[in-house]
Amino acid sequence: MNIYDMTLHQLWKMLREGETTVQEIYGSFAGRIEEVEGRVGAFVNLTPDLAERQVLKAADRWSEGRGITPLTGLPVAVKDNMSLVGVPVTCSSRMLENYIPPYNATVVERLAEDGAIFPGKTNMDEFAMGSSTENSAFKVTRNPWHLDYVPGGSSGGSAAAVAAGEVPAALGSDTGGSIRQPSSFCGVVGMKPTYGRVSRYGLVAFASSLDQIGPITRDVRDCAIMMNALSGHDACDSTSADIPVPDHTAGLGRDVRGLRIGLPKELFGEGIDAGVRQAVRAAVDLLVGMGAECMELSLPHLEYSLPVYYIIATAEASSNLARYDGVQYGYRADDVKDIIDMYSRTRSEGFGTEVKRRIILGTYALSSGYYDAFYLKAQKVRTLIKSDFDKAFTQVDLLITPVSPTTAFKVGEEVGDPVQMYLSDICTIPINLAGVPAISMPCGFDNGLPVGMQIIGKPFDETTMLRAAYAYEQSTDWHKRRAALAE
Ligand code: GLN
Repeated sequence: MNIYDMTLHQLWKMLREGETTVQEIYGSFAGRIEEVEGRVGAFVNLTPDLAERQVLKAADRWSEGRGITPLTGLPVAVKDNMSLVGVPVTCSSRMLENYIPPYNATVVERLAEDGAIFPGKTNMDEFAMGSSTENSAFKVTRNPWHLDYVPGGSSGGSAAAVAAGEVPAALGSDTGGSIRQPSSFCGVVGMKPTYGRVSRYGLVAFASSLDQIGPITRDVRDCAIMMNALSGHDACDSTSADIPVPDHTAGLGRDVRGLRIGLPKELFGEGIDAGVRQAVRAAVDLLVGMGAECMELSLPHLEYSLPVYYIIATAEASSNLARYDGVQYGYRADDVKDIIDMYSRTRSEGFGTEVKRRIILGTYALSSGYYDAFYLKAQKVRTLIKSDFDKAFTQVDLLITPVSPTTAFKVGEEVGDPVQMYLSDICTIPINLAGVPAISMPCGFDNGLPVGMQIIGKPFDETTMLRAAYAYEQSTDWHKRRAALAE
């Protein structure tokens, strides 16, 4: 097996047993990046100088046996909407193309302290708005399983980098599905933690009441390892929860006997491809065979998720993105007549079409006279959706659904039809509205492309979710398959 095909925990074990070195691991992934990045296009910026400095430090930690964590010496890619000091954080937007952050995001800081290596920043839909990574101002990222297909989005660069063997793990952010949907399209594991579990400090804000950072990895154990590194209260983010963090690996290996699983009927019916539905049903059957109990249930307000999301997320985005006025950050138009001209030309030239569409929608939803009819009403329906989940969790421990109604689609196929693109997140958006945790994991293939299963947990009970995910994973081998990326 190639080093670049391994998981974090496999690599760590080899380091501990002296079978490899930090330099050799970095060399293998760097070589793989060299080999495939031209075709995959997962990165916006590669940072080999930084990575090589980090490699030397991590190698010292290992040789001195000092301060070794489960991530010391292991590469992790960072989505390009999280600040890494001294390296541009572009959000794949012209607006921030040259903006260099003066501080680290808390998640980046935590990984750096653990001794992780940062090989680069990954491509995304501009400001995390999209489901295919085609909204990047810089490049189109390809799905490593089939280069004519999208990797999903908005964390498409991170998911593709993990699937292509360019890194063993990456960070993504998830506002309505942006970790889970690309993980599903690329056949890797991706988790959106409970809202508040992971600090958002240093994450460029899209929709603050929905955004959450989480890991993208090759298996469930690595996901738990990353969660241990990322989680916890942060005084710099007032929405981060000040509650104890469990050991996310603690439940791995426990069986699923007696776990009650609910299947929301709204997400197994119309609009879900037959191949996807069958793969997820087969996964549920397997869990039932292992002793889990399963029941169908209803989340009656789920059907309003998309309209509610596209009011709340755009309203918050229009407010968050007001700061890009050409004064403080990034791009500023040249040869402007006056200050109004500067604002308007800067924003016209700096933002892409989808971002403009969202700002216009959100500004409208918040404007006087429409606020009650749209924004306030959407907030009320959001509460109903959340209480559907609360009720379901009085009957079951976990919910299972598909991650996305389809497998990956072709590059160019949906980009001209925003509503079709928005439908891609029909199964993931309700989770962000409710603030609960969910994991996407490989559960089969349809026409040669990966299918993802979504396991949804109770708030702050990521451990039970990971336990079921791990039990499923251990009795299948989807997670062991690697995209060939043959020339
Ligand atoms: N695809 C969804 C959107 O376009 C979700 C994006 C995200 O989670 N950042 O808003």
